[in-house]
Amino acid sequence: MNLDNCPRCGKLFSKNFRDVCPACIKEIDKEYELCSDYLRKNKGTNINDLSNETGVSVRQITKFVREGRISIVNAPNMSYPCEVCGTFIRDNNMCDSCRSRLISDTGKMRSEDARRAEELEAQKANQNIYKGIDRYKDR
Ligand SMILES: [Zn+2]
Ligand SMILES: [Zn+2]
Repeated sequence: MNLDNCPRCGKLFSKNFRDVCPACIKEIDKEYELCSDYLRKNKGTNINDLSNETGVSVRQITKFVREGRISIVNAPNMSYPCEVCGTFIRDNNMCDSCRSRLISDTGKMRSEDARRAEELEAQKANQNIYKGIDRYKDR
């Protein structure tokens, strides 16, 4: 048997397909019910109000949203913190700036952008040449 400490309550439990103990799974399910219920009745709520009203931590609500258990599509004021900098976002795990930084860190985006910029420059140069020829023809 694969025993591990539950990261949520610290109790020893036999590992299953979920990463927390059965008691916590039940707790989390209850929290999920509370959140989705409140959200259904209060579509204009934000994550802080939702947390205050349900007693469920912002962290856990964020997890629900990221896991796709809670949909915020119909809740315009719901957002959750970026994994990296804490800026409130509504999509993905990171805000745009952290994501583009991460991508440019891998170097892919940067070279792609550079290539595109070069292409654009080349196009502009071409256009100028044609403009020059047109002007020449007009005379
Ligand atoms: Zn637990
Ligand atoms: Zn960020």
